[in-house]
Amino acid sequence: MITTSRRYLLRPSVAVALVSIAVGGLVVVAQRGVPPRTATDDGFTDTPMLPGQPWRVHDPSRPNPPVVTPGATPGAAPSDAIVLFDGTDLSQWAQRGTGANAGQLLEPKWPVRDGYFETGAGSGSLHSRASFGDVQLHVEWAAPTVVAGNSQGRGNSGIYLMSLYEIQVLDSFENRSYADGQAGSIYGQWPPLANVARKPGEWQAYDIIFEAPIFENGKLVTPAYQTVFWNGVIVHNRKEVMGATVYRKVATYAKHEAQRPLMLQDHNDPVRYRNIWVRPLRQYDQAVPK
Ligand code: MG
Repeated sequence: MITTSRRYLLRPSVAVALVSIAVGGLVVVAQRGVPPRTATDDGFTDTPMLPGQPWRVHDPSRPNPPVVTPGATPGAAPSDAIVLFDGTDLSQWAQRGTGANAGQLLEPKWPVRDGYFETGAGSGSLHSRASFGDVQLHVEWAAPTVVAGNSQGRGNSGIYLMSLYEIQVLDSFENRSYADGQAGSIYGQWPPLANVARKPGEWQAYDIIFEAPIFENGKLVTPAYQTVFWNGVIVHNRKEVMGATVYRKVATYAKHEAQRPLMLQDHNDPVRYRNIWVRPLRQYDQAVPK
């Protein structure tokens, strides 16, 4: 509001109107609604160049960003999101065959009910049919209401970006385990900055911004980075990832595709998921896809 007021006061036409009101001593509604546009509303062509950018300060030729309609409620998918689960079916997902079915994509066995789906404990992990690189990902999950097991054996699942880089899902509510294996951890590498666990059975949210690693000529030139909000609290701030998730070892990178499926881990616990959507990250000034 302050910015708007200042901006309006700078406009000559409004300033003139305000002066006339002051001089005349009469209360006149001189300006209702939006003031008329001026020649500089779209920017300036006599301003300095922004360092390292092809644009001037307030450049009128710089493209305006795409319009995105936000979700109706916090956490709901915005208009340009790819919805991977809307509460009804697992058509965006598959399971990988094993044994005689090795190499095949199979229909998911994980049960869907009442707007959520549940890990098909023991049936194998779930992979998105689409592949992604840099993304913003929203996932909601809930640990089992019936508390069973402890440490890593309680509500264990995981969200694997590119099927390789895990953000741990675990019932970490009053459940001690090693720090780099808690819910919200970059598993085996970095604990979350805080334990933001809700109680078993309560829905929790991860908002993840993932930057994919970059390989050139088979060698890593830029590592992956993870930024994670857990129930609205930041638990990783563009943290560098050491490599693909491993157990009891130091993670390393191995060259892979620029885009790979997301994976939800089956760790033999009945963890529930709902409201999953993803937005591939755009670059600044990128043309809006038609
Ligand atoms: Mg896990």
